[in-house]
Amino acid sequence: MTSRQGSDGSSSARVSGSPVIDIRDVGKRYDEGPPALDGLSLEVRQGEALAVLGPSGSGKSTLLNMIAGLDRPTEGSVTVAGVRVDELSETASARYRRDRIGMVFQFFNLLDDLTVLDNVLLPAQLLGQDRSGARDRAAELLGYLGINRHAAAYPGRLSGGERQRVAVARALMNRPALLLADEPTGALDTASGAEVRQLLTDLNADGQTILLVTHDLSLAESCATRTIELVDGRITRDSRHPRAETAAGR
Ligand code: ADP
Repeated sequence: MTSRQGSDGSSSARVSGSPVIDIRDVGKRYDEGPPALDGLSLEVRQGEALAVLGPSGSGKSTLLNMIAGLDRPTEGSVTVAGVRVDELSETASARYRRDRIGMVFQFFNLLDDLTVLDNVLLPAQLLGQDRSGARDRAAELLGYLGINRHAAAYPGRLSGGERQRVAVARALMNRPALLLADEPTGALDTASGAEVRQLLTDLNADGQTILLVTHDLSLAESCATRTIELVDGRITRDSRHPRAETAAGR
């Protein structure tokens, strides 16, 4: 966690050839209505920060659920970090979510009756990892994210921005190949939103592959290195771009 992006704001030099996400010809049809995803293909390489934009009902959540193994396509294949996610059993899918991906949500999804430290330790406990190694990793993350002074506090005592930092620490605990973020600034005030934006930017500059679903154009512009737009379950725009400089940016 030491390197930083180049002075031009681009992290493209860090993007390597191996695909973290490889989605091929995915369709998702429900009994009623038009398909939620319609022949969608998408490859995301290691080191990319991809923002998924699109109007309400365009298929963003469906796409996120496919990648997280929370839903299955009716056609096509979804491979993440070498795992055929669309073919996993329910148990294997839960293990995949614990091992390979980290998830951050709009409303944090922290457990209010556990301390910050215990929230962050939870994924390691679920994997049955050695406790002292897990505590070292949690301490490292809390330090990196600037929230170690809150380790013994309960989430209810923290600001929204601090809670989202705890959620990010928890998501990173098992060193996920992919960080999925669903409207991570959606419930935050402007200042906290800018903090989380900077945090995601720094994480990607340090090499973390990120997929971000958002309505927040400034989040996409400042944090992502690539943006796709969905309309009616299809990709209508796919552009790689340098990050926009923000007031909080380096
Ligand atoms: P977004 O996240 O971009 O708002 P969604 O992925 O939630 O879009 O939805 C895409 C389309 O699929 C919408 O037309 C929505 O009504 C439909 N849809 C989503 N979930 C279901 C479901 N469980 N049953 C039927 N239709 C659904």
